[in-house]
Amino acid sequence: MSAIDTERFRELLTEERGRVQTALDGLQHQYPRSLEEEGEESGSETHPGDMGTETFDRELDLTLEDNEHAVLERIDAALQRIEEGTYGVCRVCGKQIPPERLEAMPWVDLCIDDQRKLERG
Ligand SMILES: [Zn+2]
Repeated sequence: MSAIDTERFRELLTEERGRVQTALDGLQHQYPRSLEEEGEESGSETHPGDMGTETFDRELDLTLEDNEHAVLERIDAALQRIEEGTYGVCRVCGKQIPPERLEAMPWVDLCIDDQRKLERG
């Protein structure tokens, strides 16, 4: 039934998931020295004296972190849909999402029409 090569998209999603995860890890270590050696033990590191000047930067990072988390969730949901056999189908109208769209954003679960409707409100 499905004309979509889900194995290929599973690969794309897994790859993208790794990239996002790495980005998140980077954000969580504000002062990365040697990530490989110190990544595990620097969890409680704080800089109480810097709070005032760094608030703004930190907020920007949090926004970015939120975005990455959102993408990560969507990637996980898409991987789940591959498992369930519903991947590549619009969750609103049930039509097949064009492969070109999935290539660009493998985690989408809306066709372009429904995406636009949603954005218009
Ligand atoms: Zn649709």
